[in-house]
Amino acid sequence: VKENLMAERPWYLAESLAALRTEINRRWPNRDKDSDGAKGDPAHAARQSDHNPDYDRSGIVRAIDVDKDGINVTQLLAAVIRDPRVAYVIWNRRIASATDDGTPWDWEPYDGENPHDKHIHISIKHTRAAETNTATWFKAATPQGDDMPSAKEVAQEVFNLLEPRLQAYTQDLKTFERQTDGPDALRAGQAAEAEILTPENIDRIATAVAAKIAKATTPKA
Ligand SMILES: [Zn+2]
Repeated sequence: VKENLMAERPWYLAESLAALRTEINRRWPNRDKDSDGAKGDPAHAARQSDHNPDYDRSGIVRAIDVDKDGINVTQLLAAVIRDPRVAYVIWNRRIASATDDGTPWDWEPYDGENPHDKHIHISIKHTRAAETNTATWFKAATPQGDDMPSAKEVAQEVFNLLEPRLQAYTQDLKTFERQTDGPDALRAGQAAEAEILTPENIDRIATAVAAKIAKATTPKA
């Protein structure tokens, strides 16, 4: 009974995040909302989470989850990463935060129980400004000049995306080798890995991706 009373206590989503959600819904009206969330479930309530209403501050909730389906994840990440309102973002086993020990906003491994591969988690700072500032999240400006990722940055990003897959692939091959006593399989796997991860290949991918970005971000007459 006590738990039910707790669950019914009023709460509200921070104005800044409500504004973000409205912008997301306008941008992608047909998006899937299955993995969306604001207020924490009982599992969240048991631990420290920005999804839990802060009852010392009239029940404010300082985090949302946005389903990855039907949106452009890259655009959403670009809108929230480095926004002064945001404390941290979790997406696909990685976390980027404003205040981590290393470089602010670099992506670091996230090994929480939920891999966050179906939704993007966005937490805001525990400040009045972060909670109430409803300024536009998706900036109209396209990346140019200094904002434009260099070919090297793109290559690094491509490598980051490929690396876990390659590791999983190599792991599968090792298992296969153990099960079948077939060292050939492992050798084939290592050869395939070496073939994909050549500097030339990464450079080629980076150049192609950079060209695509340049084309996409060139203002149309
Ligand atoms: Zn979350």
